Amino acid sequence: MNLDDKYKTSEEIRNFPMLEKNEEISNRSIIEGVIQFDQHDNILYWNHIAQKIFDYDDKECINPNIQEILPLETFQVDSERNLFTFLTSPNNPFINNTIEINVRTKRNRVIFIELSVFMNKILENALIIVRDITNRRDYESQVFQVLRFEKLITSISSKFVGNIDFDETINEALAQIGISNRVSRVYLFLFDNEKVYMNNTHEWCAENVSPHIQYYKKLKIENFPEVLETVFKGDFIRIEDTSDFSKGGKKLKELLASRNIKATLAFPIFVNYQVSGFLGFDDEESPRLWSLEDYSLLKITSQIVGTTLERKFVEDNLRESEEKYRLLSEDSDDLIVLCNENLEIEYINGETHERILGYPQHLFWKQEFRFSIIHKDDISISGSLITNGFKKGNFKICIRNRHLNGHYLWFEWTGKFFYDKNYNKKLLVVGREITDFKVAEQKLKESEEKYRKLYISSKDGIVMADLDGYITDCNPAFLDIIGYDEAEIKKYTYMDITVKKFHQFEKEIINSEVLAKGYSSQYEKEYIHKNGKHIPVSLRVWLIQDEIGNNAGMWAIVRDISEQKKAQYQLEESEMKYRNILESIREGYFEVDLKGNFTFINDAMSNITGYLREELLGANYEILCDTKMKDLLYSKYNKLFKSRKEFIMFEYYIITKKGAKIFVESSVYLLKASNKWIIGFKGVLRDVSERKTVETLRKNFMDKLENEVKIRTNELAEALEKQKLYLDQIIRSSHFKTDFLATMSHELRTPLNAIVGFTDLLLEGSYGYLNKDQSEFVQDIKGSAEHQFEMISHILDISRIESGQISVKIENFSIKNLIENICSTIKPLLNKKSLVLEMRGFEKKKIVNGDHLKIKQIIYNLLSNAIKFTEKGKITIEFYENSKSWGIKVKDTGIGIQEKDYGIIFKDFKRVNSEYVNSKPGSGLGLALTKRIVELHRGQITFESKFGEGTTFDFNIPIEFELEKERSDSESFLNL
Ligand code: ADP
Repeated sequence: MNLDDKYKTSEEIRNFPMLEKNEEISNRSIIEGVIQFDQHDNILYWNHIAQKIFDYDDKECINPNIQEILPLETFQVDSERNLFTFLTSPNNPFINNTIEINVRTKRNRVIFIELSVFMNKILENALIIVRDITNRRDYESQVFQVLRFEKLITSISSKFVGNIDFDETINEALAQIGISNRVSRVYLFLFDNEKVYMNNTHEWCAENVSPHIQYYKKLKIENFPEVLETVFKGDFIRIEDTSDFSKGGKKLKELLASRNIKATLAFPIFVNYQVSGFLGFDDEESPRLWSLEDYSLLKITSQIVGTTLERKFVEDNLRESEEKYRLLSEDSDDLIVLCNENLEIEYINGETHERILGYPQHLFWKQEFRFSIIHKDDISISGSLITNGFKKGNFKICIRNRHLNGHYLWFEWTGKFFYDKNYNKKLLVVGREITDFKVAEQKLKESEEKYRKLYISSKDGIVMADLDGYITDCNPAFLDIIGYDEAEIKKYTYMDITVKKFHQFEKEIINSEVLAKGYSSQYEKEYIHKNGKHIPVSLRVWLIQDEIGNNAGMWAIVRDISEQKKAQYQLEESEMKYRNILESIREGYFEVDLKGNFTFINDAMSNITGYLREELLGANYEILCDTKMKDLLYSKYNKLFKSRKEFIMFEYYIITKKGAKIFVESSVYLLKASNKWIIGFKGVLRDVSERKTVETLRKNFMDKLENEVKIRTNELAEALEKQKLYLDQIIRSSHFKTDFLATMSHELRTPLNAIVGFTDLLLEGSYGYLNKDQSEFVQDIKGSAEHQFEMISHILDISRIESGQISVKIENFSIKNLIENICSTIKPLLNKKSLVLEMRGFEKKKIVNGDHLKIKQIIYNLLSNAIKFTEKGKITIEFYENSKSWGIKVKDTGIGIQEKDYGIIFKDFKRVNSEYVNSKPGSGLGLALTKRIVELHRGQITFESKFGEGTTFDFNIPIEFELEKERSDSESFLNL
């Protein structure tokens, strides 16, 4: 048949371009862009979707040349001038294939699109169907990125768990992050204890990068003021281009230039909350904009290194001195237990135990208790460890321990034998909380699981091969394509199952794309099925790298395109291009005559309705309706017919062949013959049942939620009310409290009395001479016991005031006598510091009212604080009175109080957090108690202070003091 014949006989072609005919449908319903252009590359037609994809607005759409939107470079051709010629040339890989490329739009955005090209050789024009897949591509690459990053972090942090060789592990970690982020060097600097020098302690260098570590020893920190300031503030150092970098100090600039460093990025390392060094990247190749991943990785690694250093210092110190490690170990977050050879506990860092696990520290001294908080599933491994591993010395287990609040935390317990300085064998057990790490591990597992499922259930074949090409893993879909079972396929390389004529072609793709940039574009080849048939497939290949960036193999997504190929072939045969469009849309397309009988439908229509094409053609539209819809459709179509409107759009539902109800959205147009007579209707049908279901589900869910929230709120309010009542009761039941406090006072104070007594005896030499060290130790013990004694008394006093068991006994007494009495008690303290005490306004005969023992305690507390927090100068104590009250001011020239700390001074257990205050004994209860005593007298206590200059405390007692009925208080209130 020659071309002319074909023109004459083929109805579709005569009426070509059919696209114009159905333009309105295409514009509204098709989600792909459609572009049709001729052999001169002039666009004949493009729909709105295509225009939108390439950022053309309505005014700009006067059909341009195809190369304006798809330049030839996009297809990587430079020999051709014309896209049409290029596409029609034989062996052109793009024709009749789906390809993925990126292009620049009119508004200069880079987008990823998927293209299918079809040629109409007879009419000498071509059809391109485009789809915007930018979002999908972004998503894919993000998922890969996140997964890789997560893996890296888990792998690094797991290195630092357990008994490790510190230097070796750090070097490994530096190498790992260096390779992964492709930097020239990773360096770790640590400061010495005095923070005067810094040392480059660890370093990793990429190939051909020379090490620097030997040059950076004992660098004076003060020579790098800017760095110092940034790092000590806890900020990171970021230099993206050393040549264009002015601040940072001369020395730093010289140093960077002399060493050829183009860019650097560093994070501080914190050990026990103090900046102790920094970890960083160098780039010697070129200036570098540091990426989010660079930051995150460096930050997390510096945190990990910091906590490891913390642990290392604790462990080092343990070996050195028992006293020193006690203090240090309370600062660390590791739980530390020291046992003797018989596994009796000799030391625990109780405060840390209490902080991390919540129970009072004394409980942890009992092995039974320690066992009682182990998770029931972990008891057997801990038990077998005791019997088998414990005695051997070195062990490591991960178990869950229960926190006081009922939650379980993951701990890694490591045990090590060592010898103390007296050559006694000791077992050191260190528990580190690793809950976060465990949770992250779990998450990773879950996300791997997720991908695993996708892998199994994917309709596309997924296959992996090692570096030699041997197939290592594949999913069921791949086995379906190729016909082998899993065991068989692993004996082959991917070349073995590929048709020979594709070998060279595929090798080129792997070299120039996969190995060069990590993945290939979509390409086609043919596999040899087990039964010998050739199976055309379209595939895309990615490179697999291991954690440190070495190539480990490849994986690919493979799609069997035999059907597609066959279909394409048939289509070309019939030249019915328009079918191609209609069939590639997801919406159903139909034509009915004026009686409502179907005259044409597309595949999607038969998919949606469940009827075969032959069943639907010729059938009446009523086949898809129940009575209600029959009426609705009739009236709608009738209206369209009568009104002669162009089209109508409405929602209704159809009944499928299986009897299911499906909600659809439909636009219907009049179908006219060439003489403009109306011969029927044509329309598009979109399945919106999913949207409908989601809408109803959402509504139901919201209703339910609202209701639930109401019920819960009421329940909560009730529970709160109950709790309040309960608390009230507890507070009121002071009976219990009295008994408890009385016992506690006895139980706690008696042994302390004994300790103080015995230490006195020891110090006096009653049990023989003590050497200097011993006598210092005993002094310490005595000091601590006295402090404890005082604290218990304070707690006791406060609780008795709180529970209303103490009232004041008002009497008249001489204030002068009282002051003299106090002064004799504190004289030794004053003399130790050579402070002067000045008294003002204390007249011999001055008589005041109040509970004289309690007033004594107030003044004593204020005076001893003044002495405690003053190093030089004087303390002034001044009496004053007026018609309503009398009072006393205690003024010192000591350290003073910063304004930000004013609020905590009278609070229970609160002390100012400064090095100076922490070096002084005290419990933060003195003033809390003092304030309560003043208030028992209906008086007030205040203070004024200037930081660094001194503090004045002032309390006053009203003269008119109504006596309340007193309860007798058998025990002496004061314990001075
Ligand atoms: P303690 O002295 O046992 O720490 P106090 O309740 O007596 O407890 O005091 C609470 C805190 O108030 C002290 O830790 C200290 O920080 C601050 N403070 C009290 N008196 C003075 C003072 N005279 N000068 C400076 N600071 C003081």
